[in-house]
Amino acid sequence: MELLHPRHLDIQHGQNMRARPIVSLVLPCYNEQEVLPETTKRLVALLDDMEAQGQCAPGSAIYYVDDGSHDATWKMIQEYSVAELRVCGVKLSRNRGHQNALLCGLMTVPGEILVSLDADLQDDLGVIPKMLASYGEGCEIVYAARSKRSADSFFKRFTAESYYKVLEFLGVQVVYNHADFRLMSRRAIEALREYEETHLFLRGMIPQLGYRTATVEFERAPRLAGESKYPLSKMLSLAWQGVTSFTAYPLRLITGLGALVSVGSLALALWALAVRLFGDTALPGWASIVIPTYFLGGIQLLSLGIIGEYLAKVYEAIKKRPRFHVEAVCGREFCHAPIL
Ligand code: UDP
Ligand code: MG
Repeated sequence: MELLHPRHLDIQHGQNMRARPIVSLVLPCYNEQEVLPETTKRLVALLDDMEAQGQCAPGSAIYYVDDGSHDATWKMIQEYSVAELRVCGVKLSRNRGHQNALLCGLMTVPGEILVSLDADLQDDLGVIPKMLASYGEGCEIVYAARSKRSADSFFKRFTAESYYKVLEFLGVQVVYNHADFRLMSRRAIEALREYEETHLFLRGMIPQLGYRTATVEFERAPRLAGESKYPLSKMLSLAWQGVTSFTAYPLRLITGLGALVSVGSLALALWALAVRLFGDTALPGWASIVIPTYFLGGIQLLSLGIIGEYLAKVYEAIKKRPRFHVEAVCGREFCHAPIL
């Protein structure tokens, strides 16, 4: 029999609270003033609907994490939190990037279960009740994976899908085509709290937690409004984070490459020696000197660069700098939050 967390048992009524949990929706926002009105409207309607159908408990709310926006995002969140009891907000002291903003949300908001999603509603709200159903069956984490990427450009689709395949090849455990649209139970959140990593790649960290999990599929929609806040540079940086935080394979690749080049160089040296000793064609050759020099120089620089990347990670991690600072909060539900 599965052991239930004490929190999941309503002592007074002897009921299993998994059937009707308090749901917190966590949405990182960076300059999202164009999408917030529609997102808020749809999410409030969703929670009202789920509450009416007995899928979630009263007190279920929307938590926007403002990741140091420069536009009216925070002002709008504050206004919504006054007008609508279901809306709450956390403001970070500056832009820390999507992963840090999301972690801040996961670590600070109350609620029995937390569902993280993007503010632009590219994630299909229709699968949230399905996620809740899996939670009701005992899952601690429910991943939403994209079944199709028809709304993404060819470039985004191709690079994203290739990336998941590379990660799989490198032995990094990720859920294929899953980004950060997922449900986590309080138990899973508390387990995640123990991970003190500086370089966040949540979609790689969360599968490390274990527990019972499920995956639901959805079709990713186009952005509601505004532009993507993930330019190519941020995407590449996240992709590199994913590789270097979860596998030392690139370092091993360097070792393999080094061994291969050494064997090749030894063979060339033996050949040169044989020509010098036994032949009479030993002309001083320019190409045979400069080509290996350039080649080896390139490989050495590349290798040093990769080793340097890992070293830099150790340096950053050893400093143990906080991953975010909360500047302000708003909304009714935060009055009960234990952490702030
Ligand atoms: N985001 C954030 N901080 C950033 C960049 C993005 O909090 O520095 C948020 C953004 O507001 C959105 C989510 O992360 O809610 C995903 O970003 P976006 O939709 O722009 O990415 P895409 O879907 O284009 O990959
Ligand atoms: Mg998006």
